Amino acid sequence: MSESSRTPGSSRDIRDVVGIGFGPANLALAIAIEESNEAAAPDDQLSAVFFEAEEKFSWHPGMLLDGATMQIAFPKDLVTFRNPRSAYTFFSYLHDRGRLVDFVNHQTFFPTRHEFNDYLGWAASRVSADVRYGAAVTSVKPVPDEDGKTRLFEVVGADGTTVLTRNVVMGAGLRERIPEWATRSTRCFHNHNFLNHIGALPPVKHQRFAVLGAGQSAAEIVQYLHRNYPDAEVHNVFSRYGYSPADDSPYANRIFDPEAVDDLHSAPAEVRARLLDVHRSTNYSCVDIDLINELYSAEYSERVSGARRLFMRRASEIIEINDQADGIEVSIRSDLDGLTDTLTYDALVLATGFEPAPLEPLLGDIARNAQGVARDYQLVLSDDIEAGIYLQGGTERTHGLTSSLLSNVAVRAGEILAAVRDRCSSESLLATVNQTDPYVTSEAR
Ligand SMILES: Cc1cc2nc3c(=O)[nH]c(=O)nc-3n(C[C@H](O)[C@H](O)[C@H](O)COP(=O)(O)OP(=O)(O)OC[C@H]3O[C@@H](n4cnc5c(N)ncnc54)[C@H](O)[C@@H]3O)c2cc1C
Repeated sequence: MSESSRTPGSSRDIRDVVGIGFGPANLALAIAIEESNEAAAPDDQLSAVFFEAEEKFSWHPGMLLDGATMQIAFPKDLVTFRNPRSAYTFFSYLHDRGRLVDFVNHQTFFPTRHEFNDYLGWAASRVSADVRYGAAVTSVKPVPDEDGKTRLFEVVGADGTTVLTRNVVMGAGLRERIPEWATRSTRCFHNHNFLNHIGALPPVKHQRFAVLGAGQSAAEIVQYLHRNYPDAEVHNVFSRYGYSPADDSPYANRIFDPEAVDDLHSAPAEVRARLLDVHRSTNYSCVDIDLINELYSAEYSERVSGARRLFMRRASEIIEINDQADGIEVSIRSDLDGLTDTLTYDALVLATGFEPAPLEPLLGDIARNAQGVARDYQLVLSDDIEAGIYLQGGTERTHGLTSSLLSNVAVRAGEILAAVRDRCSSESLLATVNQTDPYVTSEAR
């Protein structure tokens, strides 16, 4: 463990940690490393480098809709649950921005996504970490020693850069889920990059939009389109009969507690699966109740005035699309009466959720041969691999619903850091291993 040591007989740097992706998860880890190094002796400093594909720090910029609020309470920031005295708390950010008193007077636990994005960017600009922006990682390869053991990985960037490391922390986030029948175009796109796509539509008066999905993102986009295009119809298509409210009541919310990770990881697989299923409505395919009420109120006003332009296409599915230069034809069939209608829309927004970024494209056989994920988020690898790979995300089925969320980033970063320190000092492998479950899961927001 040192500030980038060197391989015997080689001039190449070796890092203790390479982070892939620099979203909130690896940002929280970078802060944890900085704080831990401040308290460590010079010989115990961890060296880390983070690779981020984007040119600068960003947090889902295509969904920074005006007025959209956080789905978690602000104390679930990058640090507070691990170290409430940290200089990187949301309160420190507010103090630094001169808004601490104003925020408290606001009396909310749920800041806007714009403000939380500003907080994350503020933290990213302050942390003393080696972050390489505009640097996508394309592969991670084992570097076997002469005895056949792999104690180092080589991380390879798209520009050919290579770095040797003892530990890789995957924080590559989520991947957009696109229905099989859909082909992306300027008029048919996933909601993740919504603001860019909507701004790139031809500059004509928009007549009609379709939004597929009934989760939080779908409802937010329906509201955005309805408010920002006052002459356009907005059709929300979904297979449900109506939106389901997100359950954020206090007992259900305990599924996001740091302790829930212990409970779930150590529980029998069938119990874990049952609990994840029971509590899906805390996070998936559900909508904040205030937003549901606002949309209902808008639709009801239109029913009163007779000037209808917000339509909930319930129990319906899209059976065909036909993308043309001046619009996209969308055929929507109602499961209730079996009737189909086809209309031309300015755009079809696919609010169809996300899945964790797959590991295989980057890790290849390392991921294919993995036997599970340990409690400390370490991939359980074959006996000949002694270097470590840790997962920030993609562990929902082993570690619970916080896997892809912000709720537990502070504590998880601390746990991964402790495991990396333990590995670097003792080369020990961790014992509590969950070998029965696949580590990759697939979920929608
Ligand atoms: C619109 C929206 C709103 C959300 N709101 C909330 C919320 O309110 N509360 C909550 O708890 N969760 C929310 N989420 C869930 C979201 O996953 C988390 O907020 C958070 O982004 C997770 O952080 P992350 O670092 O794991 O992943 P991400 O934020 O996705 O960051 C991953 C990073 O890795 C980079 N990357 C990917 N592949 C590579 C590669 N090969 N090489 C280099 N870099 C790479 C990406 O460019 C990205 O910057 C929301 C998600 C969305 C889409």
